[in-house]
Amino acid sequence: MGLYTVILSPRPACARLHEPEAVQNSARNIGKAESPFCLSSPAPSLSTLTRVPLHTATARQGRDVWNFTEPFMMIQRRTTRQVKVGNVAIGGGAPVSVQTMTKTDTRNVEATLAQLHELAAAGADIVRLACPDEKAAEAFRPIMREAPLPIIADIHFDYRLALAVLDAGVDGIRLNPGNLARTDKLPEIVARCRERNVSIRVGVNNGSLSRRLRKLVFAGEMATHVAMAESALEHIRMIEDLDYGEIKISLKASDVDTTVRAYRELAPRCDYPFHVGLTEAGTVRTGTIKSSIAIGMLAHEGLCDTIRVSLTGDSREEVFVGHRILQFVGLRDAGPNLISCPSCGRVEIALERAAYAVEERLRAYSTENISVSVMGCVVNGPGEGQIADFGIAGGRGQGVIYRLGKVLKKCREEEMVDELFAAIDDWIAAGRPREEVDPEVYEQVLNARPGFEEARTEEV
Ligand code: SF4
Repeated sequence: MGLYTVILSPRPACARLHEPEAVQNSARNIGKAESPFCLSSPAPSLSTLTRVPLHTATARQGRDVWNFTEPFMMIQRRTTRQVKVGNVAIGGGAPVSVQTMTKTDTRNVEATLAQLHELAAAGADIVRLACPDEKAAEAFRPIMREAPLPIIADIHFDYRLALAVLDAGVDGIRLNPGNLARTDKLPEIVARCRERNVSIRVGVNNGSLSRRLRKLVFAGEMATHVAMAESALEHIRMIEDLDYGEIKISLKASDVDTTVRAYRELAPRCDYPFHVGLTEAGTVRTGTIKSSIAIGMLAHEGLCDTIRVSLTGDSREEVFVGHRILQFVGLRDAGPNLISCPSCGRVEIALERAAYAVEERLRAYSTENISVSVMGCVVNGPGEGQIADFGIAGGRGQGVIYRLGKVLKKCREEEMVDELFAAIDDWIAAGRPREEVDPEVYEQVLNARPGFEEARTEEV
């Protein structure tokens, strides 16, 4: 095996892949080659053009440099039992769902319901509500009557709150049996769950380990992630002893490494579905990065059954990020994929403004599986615009609008975002016709891409 260099950059002579899974799979395939390489890939829609998986198409582009035989690597989901939260199935091969929490005072029924409707519109699958006291528990009754999506109640310590929200009709509870002030009341709670098949999430955070496990961690006798897994198993055994198995588990730390290790540790030791996320991940910017790494890694390993991105910010942002993580890992199909260049000294339009404008407007197209490119100049703009479903290529105060290889329109820079969305709207109004890519256009794209031959390899 040789020494490998993978160059992934937007420069014309280097590789350009937009889907993380494709990058990984291509690199794995190419890793079998006997010589150093520079990965050079034309574009995100190669798979459409060549009718093979993207990473295969990518590697085929380099067929003169390396050979590969590995088939398309699908994500192998961990085998779990399936539980339900209302009408949403979790685990057992069900699509990975996206959860969030309300950030209103649960006792304020009107505000909480308004936020639940916002979150349903944003695409949340399940929402969790804090239940800190008796008044909050009482609020669950009117909330459950009008909730537009399945609701989980977050309970700590007080068994009476658990019983109250179960009576109110919640679809799931988050509860760690070992943390109940009255563990003798657990059979009553489980009996109430059993009546309606309500699932219980056991949620262990690295900050909430039992005294015994904390002592072991502090003494250096047990790693934190192992203690988290042990803690989950302790809570679970209490529910299993009552012959109840509608359980899912979360193991959250605020750092990526501990979180990932904890889920990996527990994965082979039980078959309950995993609710995956970091706890207290941070602000929208920082938390999105951390969550994307942790959830992305675990999702790619097949360990996610439902996810929550925890952000200090609007819960709709949590939902948006959650969906995008799943989409980019390849676990969820729905949603537009924005491709935009980073801009450089060659840029000929106000690229950043255009890219953000397109991203914002794409939020209204959340169920459209389209790739949309926004490129700043003629070096890569036309090629990228030609093979995205829709694209803008900028050039000296002008914009060119593309649809799968065809120039739809040339317009002034100020009009190009509107023209792009007019083209998308026309396509939707026409019933989303599937268009074939003209092979000649494909050739043009490849030929118009300078530097492929030169990018092959240099001695390293
Ligand atoms: S401005 Fe042109 S060369 Fe620069 S990153 Fe964008 S597309 Fe590439």
